[in-house]
Amino acid sequence: MKKYDFIVIGSGIAGLTFAIKAAEMGSVAVITKEKMFESNTRYAQGGIASVIDKEDKTYLHFEDTLKAGAGLCHKNAVKLTAQKGPEMIKLLSEWGVDFDKTKSGSLELGREGGHSKSRIVHVHDYTGKAIQEALVNKVRENSNIHIFENCMGLDLITDHHLPEKTISGSITCYGVYVLDKNNEITTFLSKITLLATGGMGKIYLHTTNPAIATGDGVAMAYRAGAAVGNLEFMQFHPTAFYDSSGIRFLVSEAIRGFGAILRNNKGEAFMKKYSPELKELSPRDIVARAIDSEMKKEGKPNVFLDITHKNPNLVKEKFPLIYNTCLSYGINITKELIPVVPAAHYQCGGVIADLNAATNINNLFASGEAAMSGVNGANRLASNSLLEGMVFSLTSLKLIKDKKILNSAKIETSIPDWDDSGTFDEKEWIYISHDKREIHQIMWDYVGIVRKDLRLERACNRLNLINKEIEEFYKKTKITKALIELRNISLLSVLITQSARFRKESRGLHYIIEYPEKNEEWLVDTIKINNRFIKRPINDDGFTSILRK
Ligand SMILES: Cc1cc2nc3c(=O)[nH]c(=O)nc-3n(C[C@H](O)[C@H](O)[C@H](O)COP(=O)(O)OP(=O)(O)OC[C@H]3O[C@@H](n4cnc5c(N)ncnc54)[C@H](O)[C@@H]3O)c2cc1C
Repeated sequence: MKKYDFIVIGSGIAGLTFAIKAAEMGSVAVITKEKMFESNTRYAQGGIASVIDKEDKTYLHFEDTLKAGAGLCHKNAVKLTAQKGPEMIKLLSEWGVDFDKTKSGSLELGREGGHSKSRIVHVHDYTGKAIQEALVNKVRENSNIHIFENCMGLDLITDHHLPEKTISGSITCYGVYVLDKNNEITTFLSKITLLATGGMGKIYLHTTNPAIATGDGVAMAYRAGAAVGNLEFMQFHPTAFYDSSGIRFLVSEAIRGFGAILRNNKGEAFMKKYSPELKELSPRDIVARAIDSEMKKEGKPNVFLDITHKNPNLVKEKFPLIYNTCLSYGINITKELIPVVPAAHYQCGGVIADLNAATNINNLFASGEAAMSGVNGANRLASNSLLEGMVFSLTSLKLIKDKKILNSAKIETSIPDWDDSGTFDEKEWIYISHDKREIHQIMWDYVGIVRKDLRLERACNRLNLINKEIEEFYKKTKITKALIELRNISLLSVLITQSARFRKESRGLHYIIEYPEKNEEWLVDTIKINNRFIKRPINDDGFTSILRK
């Protein structure tokens, strides 16, 4: 049994910024599934959106975000995020991130789809790696932060685990059960727990996300009684590098901002047919659907991005990561077209969290991609997520400090160890890999970019069955990382599919053939808690109290 003031689950931007600041108030444990360096954060290419230029204004960033979010953004959350941009960039610079500068020494600003101004602060095309490195270094040098690598949060510890189960309304989180690489389970107790476990792209066949992105935090929180929401809004990045061997990596939209053109297999530039004004600079959902439609029309597995008309030296200078990675797969992007396919990229939904990242479970906070803060609405604006993760991790700490939550919360020591009696060693790996493949394919075919009632119904039936089988298997089998991940992606695939069936309209990232238009009646968040759906009006400030009931 280990005890800390704060437990942080996840070592991406949301987890590490929280850890650095929380360490000023108490002891912190950072629990992370693989090495500290591994996260979605480290793969971010484009950069961080922030109002820096004199010509740019906070309200423009605010409005661009609302426009992308298609009516479902929570205005207060967006306002806070846009306002805090410059402060977060300053903090990251102080912590050692060397953002690109112009010759005059000011921050160099990129432009991305959906942004009305150039406001993307970046480090070449490997911004995430630069941020991750700086944060990991900062955490490592802090003696108040204890790092647990290759340790996986398995389930949150709540009142349900108390020997005397006295659950009277609200639930409290006391920490997390953690599986280490030797398959030993340790009880980690804390006063405050932050879920910062990132996204869930690994539910789908094609994804830009790394292997860690199995949505563990959201699944754990839902099982513990947290409200989760808007899971139907999965963002598909329009352009992941396509290779028949299954290799996928992100080809950032910064390259489209720089002038790259999308071409089909006949070489035609097709975006003007779908979005005559913004063409390649349209929001991601429009570009992804256009590509999906061209691929289906042509019966081909990919389309192409063309940057060959640009100065080769400039291309190499601006996009060293993309240039070198494509080259390693035999494509010189200054001379050849880049094969691309849409891929699951970012989950707009997640654990419902308020402006202070608080969830409906006491002492449990959620931030970053695992959370639904209200910033993204029905579609995320590019380069808002690194910023969002940082902003809400830091506002949560302000609340904890102002309300002296650390003084009132206590470490609950009557929690029993994990009980795995009755489980047996199972060497039948085939179950896990088969179930995983099946889930990936069902989600891609039936719950992907363009949805249909009948497909969703089929997916629900099949996924429910798989989920039930996995739950049975889980109860009887010795727990491993692979099995926990399978259990999590299985639960989340059911929740995503149910949410997609629940919303009877098309909005933002959720496009369903039977309801192709937006519908005012659906200007709501779809929240799922304890097996039931609640429609929550946008900007309902009382939402926490509704959910805490
Ligand atoms: C290829 C790519 C490019 C992107 N480009 C941009 C961009 O340019 N700008 C932008 O703003 N956003 C971008 N995004 C999105 C952005 O990177 C993520 O949304 C953001 O980094 C999420 O940060 P996070 O801290 O919430 O989670 P992550 O950075 O994903 O970190 C999650 C952490 O949790 C750990 N973890 C997960 N499950 C468990 C568990 N059960 N137990 C313990 N630890 C666990 C993981 O190992 C990881 O350390 C990009 C995403 C990808 C994939």
